[in-house]
Amino acid sequence: MEPLGAVSATALVDRLERPLRDLRISVTDRCNFRCTYCMPKEVFGADYAFLPRSEVLTFEEIERVARVFVSLGVEKLRLTGGEPLVRRDLPALVEMLASIRRPDGQPLDLTLTTNASALRKMAGPLAAAGLGRVTVSLDSLDDAVFGAMNGVDFPVAKVLDGIAAAQAAGLGPVKINMVVRRGINESSVLPMARWARTAGVTLRFIEYMDVGHTNGWRMDDVVPADELVALVDAEMPLVAEPPRYRGEVATRYRHAEGTGEIGLIASVTKPFCGDCTRARLSAEGRFYTCLFTGDGHDLRAVLRDPAAAGALDDAVLREAVAAVWRVRDDRYSEERTEATSTRLPRIEMFAMGG
Ligand code: SAM
Ligand code: SF4
Ligand code: SF4
Repeated sequence: MEPLGAVSATALVDRLERPLRDLRISVTDRCNFRCTYCMPKEVFGADYAFLPRSEVLTFEEIERVARVFVSLGVEKLRLTGGEPLVRRDLPALVEMLASIRRPDGQPLDLTLTTNASALRKMAGPLAAAGLGRVTVSLDSLDDAVFGAMNGVDFPVAKVLDGIAAAQAAGLGPVKINMVVRRGINESSVLPMARWARTAGVTLRFIEYMDVGHTNGWRMDDVVPADELVALVDAEMPLVAEPPRYRGEVATRYRHAEGTGEIGLIASVTKPFCGDCTRARLSAEGRFYTCLFTGDGHDLRAVLRDPAAAGALDDAVLREAVAAVWRVRDDRYSEERTEATSTRLPRIEMFAMGG
């Protein structure tokens, strides 16, 4: 095993004493959906300039970066995008990442967030390659509502079929992310909660966030988590559950009767920056320490440094990552106001890895 060098995994914390535990890896900035809250089609049209292939990290580069992050304390990798399933040969990357072990020899928690459009085809190969679980984004069971939100009229039935394929392939328990927007899909909240109980999936409601600058976010569009809990609780009584570990993003409730639970990701009304242990790697190799940051740190430049002439020492990369994490003091959601939400510059969520 490689020596840890100057940086020990146990010692690495940021300025607010937060360790580095999760890495979200964006494998592409492209997507076949145009969700209104993420990549509105008015902005991301046919002439939008996505990254050329040469600027996107190769699988070998992603694996190398992931190994370094794991040596610094990361226990959980989540593949995301854009839509990760549009990246060709994704199972090959999953296989490479699944072979990484933590310093204590334990395997990683390896997951993927997807719109499920290609999950019927990909679930089997991904599971065989070593993927642990999937999270599927689904904002409504109503085709008219979902079609308008995904921007391309993608049908609900195909997403449900993708979820079934994931369950059959052993990629469960499947989590479902539902972004709730005031006046757009509030009426889908109860049908989704009822469905989740019968479908054997864990539903997580996500407060609509002011990521990026293209979605025209307003505080009025956010349905607060407390309101969502009250809505579900009135029909299906809920009991609050304690967090399972430090940095758990979702606040969880279990159904008082029968089985199942729901989660709330209340990044707007109940920010959880104090426990935020997440880093993000964009498709072109920028390392972001916060979802709302204006700038990332260019790890691709370190990886492709001509001076290293292909002989880059992992210790150099490790120190570059650790140096960024040590001075991290991000807590955007705790400081958010209407005014800061329009502050420039800010990277789009699909570009940095949601
Ligand atoms: N394409 C994949 C998908 O949709 O699952 C992965 C990438 S997507 C950026 C990751 C997650 O971010 C999705 O669950 C999506 O619903 C969520 N998301 C995107 N924009 C958001 C916003 N403005 N507020 C809250 N969640 C958002
Ligand atoms: Fe694509 Fe996911 Fe963004 Fe929707 S939320 S546009 S599926 S990246
Ligand atoms: Fe973490 Fe930044 Fe979100 Fe706070 S705002 S929880 S620091 S990603």
